[in-house]
Amino acid sequence: MAQSDEKTSSLIDCNQLVAKSLSRAGIDRMFGVVGIPVTSLANRALAIGIRFIAFHNEQSAGYAASAYGYLTGRPGVLLTVSGPGCVHGLAGMSNAAANCWPMVMISGSCDQNDVGRGDFQELDQVAAVKPFSKLSIKVKDVREIPGSVFRVLDRAGSGRPGGCYLDIPADVLHQSLSESEADELLDAAEKLVSEEVIEEVKSSDISKAVELLRKAERPLIVFGKGAAISKAEGVLKKLVEATGIPFLPTPMGKGLLPDTHELAATAARSLAIGKCDVALVVGARLNWLLHFGEPPKWDKDVKFILVDICKEEIELRKPALGLVGDAKRVLEILSKEIKDDPFCLGKSHPWIEGISKKAKDNVAKMEVQLAKDVVPFNFMTPMRIIRDAILGVGSPAPILVSEGANTMDVGRGVLIQTEPRTRLDAGTWGTMGVGLGYCIAAAVASPDRLVVAVEGDSGFGFSAMEVETLVRYQLPVVVIVFNNGGVYGGDRRNPEEITGPFKDDPAPTSFVPGAAYHVLIEAFGGKGYLVGTPDELKSALTESFSARKPAVINVTIDPYAGAESGRLQHKN
Ligand code: ADP
Ligand code: MG
Repeated sequence: MAQSDEKTSSLIDCNQLVAKSLSRAGIDRMFGVVGIPVTSLANRALAIGIRFIAFHNEQSAGYAASAYGYLTGRPGVLLTVSGPGCVHGLAGMSNAAANCWPMVMISGSCDQNDVGRGDFQELDQVAAVKPFSKLSIKVKDVREIPGSVFRVLDRAGSGRPGGCYLDIPADVLHQSLSESEADELLDAAEKLVSEEVIEEVKSSDISKAVELLRKAERPLIVFGKGAAISKAEGVLKKLVEATGIPFLPTPMGKGLLPDTHELAATAARSLAIGKCDVALVVGARLNWLLHFGEPPKWDKDVKFILVDICKEEIELRKPALGLVGDAKRVLEILSKEIKDDPFCLGKSHPWIEGISKKAKDNVAKMEVQLAKDVVPFNFMTPMRIIRDAILGVGSPAPILVSEGANTMDVGRGVLIQTEPRTRLDAGTWGTMGVGLGYCIAAAVASPDRLVVAVEGDSGFGFSAMEVETLVRYQLPVVVIVFNNGGVYGGDRRNPEEITGPFKDDPAPTSFVPGAAYHVLIEAFGGKGYLVGTPDELKSALTESFSARKPAVINVTIDPYAGAESGRLQHKN
């Protein structure tokens, strides 16, 4: 038999077809938890060259997929089992939606013929994912696989990024088709055109933006995750340096331009946002993180120029001017227009002098606090030691993962980002429990970088079992746990609050004091450290950073250091 005939007659199964479709669409990494009915799918994916990172819990795997999407700019893919697996995966989908990160969740579901009869893990999964999904497709036949895989991936990554969902019933997973038909379907799927097309920004609007910036007395450039995902760092640097306009990154925007840049207004944040008259905001929403763009934090007359890929976002905020489009593209056009008739504020401009002076004063004040070696540890002393150790790594800089109330808040101010997309934190939604998933995503996305997590003990606990995943894949991740014995830190109740029949129970904020988190990783063969002094911490950091192997450093923190609710006490 001729080879082509042989090919025509051979069959491929649905699992293989899903794997092939993903691979043809450029997917080479996947996160998930296997079980009925998707175990073969994971194996088929591996066989075709897609690395499948197997987790303990779909929640962590989902967080990993969402962050992987952000770090790479291509959808992260999560695979889950049916019913409860899909529900756990919603954590990842909702986190992707809240942060505008591209991801696709693929879940197996129960046999179509058994729907409504109480089948194993039965759930209307398309309905369950609806609030968090840009596009959901339930395939009814194996022939729908290639087109559906391409469509969900395209939609997740185009326009405002977000999560999309693909539902594959068990009976479809058991179907097969001829290889030649599969190839035809794959070829056709590859030719599908993107469903979301963004029009080029109007040149008259670019001119208006340039005029607003040129005439501004106190301009500011703010940028966030949207600028990061668009990889706008190169053009941002050009724009900032050509115009001399100071900049302020959002927490995850940190690093697009180095925090150490002389035009960084990070350490003069209140002054910069309180006094600026024109703010060019690039890929960052005027939500709670930016105080809604309103007084008292912002001046009531500030004119916002918003650059966002999402037209609805701009309509919602009603800025002085909105530029819809990809951040990098819009800034390139803007920079070109400025280049034709340049302007630059210069170091002696009162606005620049004011910001730079304020920033220097604030940094000096903080350094005084940081310089002290406080034992038992407060948050500042270990944070300084960690900052210096991370800076000591140089380039490529480690990816920093951070969560927790006080730990994340203090870290945001103290830790220094020098390279783009090297900070992952609780994000727009303030999601706790993302840490281990983000660490794994970061290590998989950037194998050349060390990953350092600075976590509260509470944040760490949400997904602590994934330290086994770190060890199993031997990922270069060092997890530093700020252990103060609880959420915010132990029992902070007033004696008069402690009444009623369960008054002797531990406080809702407290965990077992002195928990041996370092021993947890040792159970799997990883390296654990318990530290309580500057020297112990320094030595653990030196050793674990150079080993580039999974480690947990359990840092004993004074349970009375830090504040309840961290920086957001007014919301409690
Ligand atoms: P941050 O938390 O850093 O302030 P947000 O998540 O609030 O950032 O905002 C990110 C914004 O970026 C979203 O409104 C999203 O629509 C937008 N965005 C996403 N991708 C792009 C892109 N490629 N170009 C411009 N804007 C983008
Ligand atoms: Mg704590």
